[in-house]
Amino acid sequence: MKKLSFVMIVIVGLLLVGCKNNEESNNEQENQHPEQNKTAEQQESEKKEADLNNGGQSTGESDIDEEEDTTVEEEEMKVPTEPLYEIAEDWSVVPLQEGINEKVVLLTIDDAPDQHAVEMAKTLKELDAPAIFFVNGHFIDSEEEQERLKEIYNMGFAIGNHTYNHTNLQSIENDQTKQKEEIVSLNNKIEDILGERPKFFRAPNGSNTDYANGIVEEEGMVLMNWTYGYDYFKPYMDADKLATAMITGEGPEVDVPYSLLKSGANLLMHDREWTAEALAEIVKGLRGQGYEIMDPHLIKTP
Ligand SMILES: [Zn+2]
Repeated sequence: MKKLSFVMIVIVGLLLVGCKNNEESNNEQENQHPEQNKTAEQQESEKKEADLNNGGQSTGESDIDEEEDTTVEEEEMKVPTEPLYEIAEDWSVVPLQEGINEKVVLLTIDDAPDQHAVEMAKTLKELDAPAIFFVNGHFIDSEEEQERLKEIYNMGFAIGNHTYNHTNLQSIENDQTKQKEEIVSLNNKIEDILGERPKFFRAPNGSNTDYANGIVEEEGMVLMNWTYGYDYFKPYMDADKLATAMITGEGPEVDVPYSLLKSGANLLMHDREWTAEALAEIVKGLRGQGYEIMDPHLIKTP
């Protein structure tokens, strides 16, 4: 009896060890190889796709690699999403349907990329706070300036058109050619640099004209002014005072003793030293009151 029990124990023991080994090796296989298998599959299907695109002719290995690289970059930079918001007539951001958070604010940075835009983008990125950077053509003439624009774009921020020369469009209302040039030449330039045309337009000083609005629409851009901003008023060219004004929505020193902060507020800021300094506090202060910093990629475009 004893001997039999011993044999049984040994057999059971061996079975257990055997199972364990199988499990381990299965796990190892699962853990180690899915990436390789997936890559091989992907490569195969991509190769087929490439072959089809080339009329059945086989492509070189390097072509496939290049394709893979492009795909990865696009996935990192673009947020594939359905539009959830639109810009209302008072320039605020409103949900397109019920059930979408309406307690949001939109951050916009005008006159970029001058001296502080990259730093501002990094601050926002660290806080995971999206924004639109409205760009002027005269700030992206040199290669160094163009690198700034690329850096901001590659951090995932939306890029808007703020005219080539920061021209007040109403001041050239009789010159339609010039108005068009101010808008379209900048879109062409931005496309040359980033490979994508801007989806948003904001006129300098909010001075829109009917003709320019038509061009903006033709270009497939969303037109927007803003609902409030204080950094361009002398009393608020100070980081602490600006932060307070932006967070409360009140600018008593420029005759706004009441709050302009409300759901959908479209916040105007600029590429300026005091704004860059106040930016983190502004984001935290708005979030502290329950406002979500909304992603402009979610705004419906024409
Ligand atoms: Zn401006």
